[in-house]
Amino acid sequence: MAIRKVARLGHPVLREKARELTREEISTPEMRRLVRDMVETMHEYGGVGLAAPQVHESVRLAVIQFEADNERYEGEGKQPLLVLFNARVKVLDATLSGFWEGCLSVPGLRGYVERPSKVEVSYLDERGKPKTMQAEGFLATVFQHELDHLDGVLYVDKIADKAKLAFIEEYGRYHAPEGEDTPPE
Ligand code: ZN
Repeated sequence: MAIRKVARLGHPVLREKARELTREEISTPEMRRLVRDMVETMHEYGGVGLAAPQVHESVRLAVIQFEADNERYEGEGKQPLLVLFNARVKVLDATLSGFWEGCLSVPGLRGYVERPSKVEVSYLDERGKPKTMQAEGFLATVFQHELDHLDGVLYVDKIADKAKLAFIEEYGRYHAPEGEDTPPE
């Protein structure tokens, strides 16, 4: 396994539309290695998800995983590891929910983004088997954030109120809910 270098805001790979993978590609040793590296990279940097373009691979693959005590997003429940190939999002409830988001490709910042509150995600799992799951709240936001990466879209593009983009420290000082710890990123 290896920790991969994460592409940062401004790198063109983050703005490309990633390509779909074939079922044959999904089961290759190279793809398994990429998945393992992405999971390790996500853990290393304390992320709750990572999309392949963030590690310079322009393919439709994302991983999502978080614990209940994730220091960046405390109190948002937990999600066991999900590996999603060729994922598509369908909005089930367009009512907007807002979260302060962060991104390993935009280090040191948080921004407030409103997104549809309930979605259905269809994808192929690691064996190439079609799966569907529904998500609401924080998990719905994580899905949409990660899958946006596959279309070259970053959360900063979706901040409606630009006054709600802040460095972590200023987020903690001026924007964080009362009583919330402000972790270092
Ligand atoms: Zn991101």
